[in-house]
Amino acid sequence: MNRHKKKFLFFSLMILMTFFVSSCGENNYAKEDILTRLESEPTIVWGVKNDTKLFGLMNVGTNKVEGFDIDIAKAITKEILGGKGRAEFVEVTSKTRIQLLKNGNIDAIIATMTITDDRKKIVDFSDVYFDAGQSLLVKKGSSIKSVKDLKAQTTVLVVKGSTSAVNIRKAAPDAKILELENYSEAFTALKSGQGDAMTTDNAILLGMAEEDPDYTLVGGNFTDEPYGIAINKGQKPFLTKVNEALKTLKSNGTYDSLYKKWFPSETTTTKED
Ligand code: GLU
Repeated sequence: MNRHKKKFLFFSLMILMTFFVSSCGENNYAKEDILTRLESEPTIVWGVKNDTKLFGLMNVGTNKVEGFDIDIAKAITKEILGGKGRAEFVEVTSKTRIQLLKNGNIDAIIATMTITDDRKKIVDFSDVYFDAGQSLLVKKGSSIKSVKDLKAQTTVLVVKGSTSAVNIRKAAPDAKILELENYSEAFTALKSGQGDAMTTDNAILLGMAEEDPDYTLVGGNFTDEPYGIAINKGQKPFLTKVNEALKTLKSNGTYDSLYKKWFPSETTTTKED
């Protein structure tokens, strides 16, 4: 074997070993019992949105992420771990969140995530903590008033990995669909005229309409989007703790006060469990 071949073999072997070691590490971390780890390391790592006003939005002034999902995550962390507990936040998008959970980069997803039967095949969900529904956002004065107006010549903006991207294809089968990476990109695309409407959950669109009053929600909700906290399968003890914490927050008034903080003009719509 000449020197070049040996060198090539050596490097190929190194790459293979690195890949093997890193993938083993990820799987072990995802499988490790979270509740056991929390006894010695009281930090829950939450996957959250960083670009979704009202749920998870990065405040560039404080460098902290803020929103309803963030506050619920902090409150659950305190319920489970007491004063010594810490909530750590890792940015996810609709497209990346399940993979980050599967890899063990995060313990749970609390990121405007709808509980669906398809998703339940790969992750477990907590009880419902927020009831949303899919709607449309358009520029004020638009001729689009509901999904019925989304005809072949209209372009609708959606975010990759969201239920909205799937649902809209059924609700408006003739419309053109343009998929963006995240919600800030999608709203920027709407404002720059790359689409005639944007579609996702009413609560997310509400945050955008608040940010820019030239935009408004139309047509009401055309789906139900119950939000749940996603946790890896095989983490039942942690899931039970999260559900117990949610119940306590709903019964002791914390949930209602956080709801009013972020959605002052809405009434609490989430059913009590
Ligand atoms: N709730 C929907 C979903 O889980 C849309 C919001 C989102 O993209 O996170 O896909």
